[in-house]
Amino acid sequence: MNDGGRIAGLAHIGIAVTSLKNAIAHWKKLGFQVTGTETLESMHVTIAFMESVGSTVELLEPTGTDSPIGRFLAKRGEGLHHVAFYVRDLEAALKAAEAQGLELIDRTPRGGSHGRNIAFLHPRSMGGVLVELCERRKP
Ligand code: ZN
Repeated sequence: MNDGGRIAGLAHIGIAVTSLKNAIAHWKKLGFQVTGTETLESMHVTIAFMESVGSTVELLEPTGTDSPIGRFLAKRGEGLHHVAFYVRDLEAALKAAEAQGLELIDRTPRGGSHGRNIAFLHPRSMGGVLVELCERRKP
């Protein structure tokens, strides 16, 4: 495998919430601090990032019910939505995942938060876990 396609650390844990305000209050109790918020119109979601010493949670509140997070909440309620890992070369990582027989949601990278390229693997081929690959290129 091209080394750039290898998993290179946990990027964040994505959590679906009905209210960012309430969720932020919960995570603050554990010592997490908000480091930024962002609305991704393409995914109909508002995101708050919270960090504590190298750990990041991404809180996802839908901007409407007819959206991926809105449908997730309707079906499963609040809770763990996805796990995101860094890779240096997202296209190489997607090729490697596909070569391993994993089902891709995104065959090509899409724009994610922080202007980063991301792509999702289908939970069907990952034991029910939605996996996000998040590009972190070498500086
Ligand atoms: Zn994410």
